[in-house]
Amino acid sequence: MLLCRYDDRLGLVRNDDVLDVTPALETLPSYHYPLPPVDPLIAHLPALRAAIEAEAKKAKPVPLKSVKLFSPVANPGKVMAAPVNYKKHLEEGRSDPGINFNRQVQEIRQAGCFLKATSSVVGPSEGVAVRHPDRRTDHEIELAAIIGKRADRVPVERALEHIAGYCIGLDITVRGPEERSLRKSIDSYTVLGPWLVTADALPDPGNLNLTLKVNGETRQQANTRDLILNIAELIAFASSYYTLMPGDVLLTGTPEGVGPIKAGDVMTATIEQIGSMEVPVRAADPPRG
Ligand code: MN
Repeated sequence: MLLCRYDDRLGLVRNDDVLDVTPALETLPSYHYPLPPVDPLIAHLPALRAAIEAEAKKAKPVPLKSVKLFSPVANPGKVMAAPVNYKKHLEEGRSDPGINFNRQVQEIRQAGCFLKATSSVVGPSEGVAVRHPDRRTDHEIELAAIIGKRADRVPVERALEHIAGYCIGLDITVRGPEERSLRKSIDSYTVLGPWLVTADALPDPGNLNLTLKVNGETRQQANTRDLILNIAELIAFASSYYTLMPGDVLLTGTPEGVGPIKAGDVMTATIEQIGSMEVPVRAADPPRG
């Protein structure tokens, strides 16, 4: 099942069309303060699937090209990310002072995971708004896993059971000496899309080609089989520190080929068995009061 959020609607993606399945959300429980630390749609996805299928049968297909796609997860509780999780990206990080700022780049087992602010999350239609045009700002394409079930200190062999699905993630990064979480948490610097592919439709996330182009030129091309810690190992590792909740997002790390973007660029991010998304880059708007 391919699920998207578009124009404030919930959609089921079929071929190049979207089917409006928003009425399926009416069965979600109504929450009262204090809100639970989950994304309600993701937390209840297994129970909603029949209603989503039923709505899809009634819906009139609308071309995907005509809608604005938002992040498939509306309310992620946290965005976890793996810093240097491909060997060749580790090597380029160690050899390029524009990436490492003369600090030692540690391998993921030493560096651990970091967290990005959930306020940085956008969908492809919103694009990336560059806030510091004077700083080097890089693209990083990553496979993103969406947690579907509460995961507290789960063993590697049971880790994948806790995934609701997958999408493409862009971990946009200002290079510099500050903490990762600061440089990567700028508004719009986490792009999730184009839709969520449920885990049952993507049984082997460990062998997917990923490609990122900027203005049509290929910058990153790799396969998730080259991850240092695979997705199951990442979930086991992360959940040994904090409890993963439905709707939490795990960015699995970027391969080699990271490079700068600037306002006016268009990124095209593709992951095999998920899909492709075009993400425009623009200058940030002036501050709002
Ligand atoms: Mn990254």
